Amino acid sequence: MYTELSLCIDGRFIPAGPGRLSEPVTNPATGAVLDELPHATVDELDEAVAAAARAFPGWAATSPFERSAILRRAAGILRERVDAVAAVMTLEQGKPIAESKGELIHAIELIEWLAEEGRRTYGRVVPSRSPGTLEHLVLREPVGVCAAFTPWNFPALTPVRKLGAALAAGCTVILKASEETPGCAVEIVRTLHDAGLPAGCAQLVFGVPSAVSERLIAAPQVRKISFTGSTPVGEHLMALAARGAKRTTMELGGNAPVIVFSDADYTKALATLSAGKFRNAGQVCVSPARFFVHESLHDRFVADVAAHARALRLGDGLDPATQMGPLANARRVEAMEAFVADAERGGARIVAGGKRQGNNGMFFEPTVIAANAPDIRLFQDECFGPILPVMPFSTVEEAIELANGTAAGLAGYAFTQGIEHRQVATHRLRVGMVGINTLAISAPETPFGGVGESGFGSEGGSEGLDAYLQTKLASISA
Ligand code: NAD
Repeated sequence: MYTELSLCIDGRFIPAGPGRLSEPVTNPATGAVLDELPHATVDELDEAVAAAARAFPGWAATSPFERSAILRRAAGILRERVDAVAAVMTLEQGKPIAESKGELIHAIELIEWLAEEGRRTYGRVVPSRSPGTLEHLVLREPVGVCAAFTPWNFPALTPVRKLGAALAAGCTVILKASEETPGCAVEIVRTLHDAGLPAGCAQLVFGVPSAVSERLIAAPQVRKISFTGSTPVGEHLMALAARGAKRTTMELGGNAPVIVFSDADYTKALATLSAGKFRNAGQVCVSPARFFVHESLHDRFVADVAAHARALRLGDGLDPATQMGPLANARRVEAMEAFVADAERGGARIVAGGKRQGNNGMFFEPTVIAANAPDIRLFQDECFGPILPVMPFSTVEEAIELANGTAAGLAGYAFTQGIEHRQVATHRLRVGMVGINTLAISAPETPFGGVGESGFGSEGGSEGLDAYLQTKLASISA
């Protein structure tokens, strides 16, 4: 039911074995060890870079049509494997099986879209000031060997965002996926090879994250770094990438504000937010995190959302009746306990949940906290878990100021039926993505990315492909 965990270097899949460093991968619902994950040696990391560098000229010169065909084939094979790979995801990450399937379908659709868009990486011709004797061609070329680092919360979608765009653009890649949720990345890289991807175009490595990233980013052949994860780690990787002037794409933490205006469709807002907040137990970078609800709706919203939270069914994600699974690891459970303790110290009211559930597995109760206290950590730091803090506001200015009150700027949401509030939220929320009356902001063809300390650069959309292309000007004289 699980998968054979392995590294992939130059087309060879290398499992754990005697004499090799490895680490256990555990199921957060039960604490059971699923398998041992092999770590790459320093020599293997260097070989991964060398293999990617050797494969690059051939892959870059491969016609975009052929690259597209391989990616399409991979998407087709992955579609046949959805049930098996979704089970791997739920076993190691904890999210309910329906969410795992949904993530995989999104990832497959993204591969398909990137396969098509990769065929449209055209340059342009700039009219010359000396027509007939000089022409300017603006060419788009793949940046080269890329190093990609992905986290544990979306174990299929984040690897695909990076692998799919890099390969579609003609780059070769070394992916270091999360050591806590490695199985989907193994399955995806295996699928790419089954679809005919030439050896060396995509390697997969695991190890001690800081040691792996330092080695890969320092390699002169690596020209581009893409990272999804927390802001402090992103800043560290950017500092490493500065040596050698390497390009970076940084998708860092969010801390999304939600404004429920007085003219919201209350029923829709409640249904959308209470379902969306607890998706993947809140461990989503664009998850609604800080709730500002107009004072006319505040008390009713707190009571209704708390009733929803109390009714949620927690359990092992493999059980189809489960509505919220465990948190992904012990760090998250400890973080939730610290957020709740801080809120209590700040005078907040715990309206639902607030505690770890059971001693077996990483379960934490869906929690609702009412707090008229913008200084508590829940309104400052990203909680990245199933805690929903709510605060009332009275004026539009106050709501915007509260919403823009942190350094993060990934997503932001507003619920309103009025054109004025819609305009205010669309233009004044300082975020990379705004959802009005919806949390469904992401599609394969739309750019995904943040501003401020949430990073820069986009994944998805044609912008996501641009991140792996560089511009060359050719001025040609007669
Ligand atoms: P963390 O900062 O320790 O790690 C975040 C991710 O970066 C992990 O996948 C980890 O393996 C990787 N990482 C850590 N150090 C690294 C290094 N030196 N080089 C390369 N990769 C490295 O945090 P965590 O405990 O795993 O997660 C907690 C926080 O991370 C959350 O509060 C959230 O802000 C953030 N996070 C964000 C996303 C996202 O989608 N943007 C995803 C996961 C975690």
